[in-house]
Amino acid sequence: MLENLILAQTVELMNDPVIASDELGRVVLTNKAHSKLTGWSQEEAKGNNKRLLYEIPKTELLDKAESSFREAILYRKDGTKVTLNASCAPLQLPELVDETIGQIVVFHPPSDESIRGHQSSDDFVSTVSHELRTPLTSIKGFAETLIHSSDKIKPEDRIKYLRIIRDQSNHLARLVEDLLFVSRLNNRKIHLVVRELELKKHVDKVCEAMSYQAEGRIFVYDFEDNLPKIMGDSDRLEQILSNLISNAIKYSPDNTTITIRAMRGDLKLNKIKISVIDQGVGITEDDQEVIFNRFSRVDNPLTRKIQGTGLGLYITRSLVQSMKGEIFLEKSNPKETVFSFTVPIAKGN
Ligand code: ADP
Repeated sequence: MLENLILAQTVELMNDPVIASDELGRVVLTNKAHSKLTGWSQEEAKGNNKRLLYEIPKTELLDKAESSFREAILYRKDGTKVTLNASCAPLQLPELVDETIGQIVVFHPPSDESIRGHQSSDDFVSTVSHELRTPLTSIKGFAETLIHSSDKIKPEDRIKYLRIIRDQSNHLARLVEDLLFVSRLNNRKIHLVVRELELKKHVDKVCEAMSYQAEGRIFVYDFEDNLPKIMGDSDRLEQILSNLISNAIKYSPDNTTITIRAMRGDLKLNKIKISVIDQGVGITEDDQEVIFNRFSRVDNPLTRKIQGTGLGLYITRSLVQSMKGEIFLEKSNPKETVFSFTVPIAKGN
């Protein structure tokens, strides 16, 4: 009795659609996952001929008393169909192994992850090719011009072309470096050395290193008193801070303030929240959805002028996650943009 209940509930809970039919081919059971995928409610499906719900090409083998894995077609209520793999087995009573009293089929829709995986690797290759081709085309074009029309080019133009070649080569080098880093991240080849860290020491180090790039921007610290130590990898923490601070510098005008704020977040979560706040151009609501994706660069007059690979935030998010934290764009408007991330507090603090 209890066993039957457990079995019935297991079938109901499964993520894979299930259809069981009797020896006459009438549907006797379907589960929630089937309804979700096809639109047939369990009541509607029951009693119908199984052919209305699915088809398994080359069924002749199925009558044999064995289970098998094959391609199947599921028919949806709206008339569309979906092809997927299915495990099929004849229904038999234990005492009558030669007699088949029906059939049970479990369908295996590809997981969202694997669909996304396939699509995103295709997209990735085509985006990478495009991103590499753009600077290469300009390097090649200006180099050709310098070689073939050398005598006709004014000296000031010559310098201009050479500068473009240098800048585009730098961009290409950064792109390759970021791509290699992304690939190491995805293959989990980034090794973290997690230990107790004094946050302020690392913020100081990054701000100092960035002071040349920061030009007219002013760094302001807003640290809660008596902040506990955090747990993390020092190099990765500095990489996260540099990426966020470098963006704050890149996308804000001179003579504005960049605030680095640190406070205890939700006490229950035992995390510290670190925010990098700038007074720059901001990010529109639509663009906020995509900025953490690979290669996403928002189109505005500043981003057109400023070179970037569109990989910075993607890498930053992966690094924050690898240190058991979260990153989010807390707020953005043309006056203030707040990127925040969390890091765990060291035990005993
Ligand atoms: P990159 O800066 O190399 O283009 P990122 O992944 O770091 O790539 O950022 C993605 C996009 O998000 C940038 O191109 C920029 O348009 C936008 N962005 C990131 N940080 C900021 C910021 N602080 N203010 C305004 N826009 C930003």
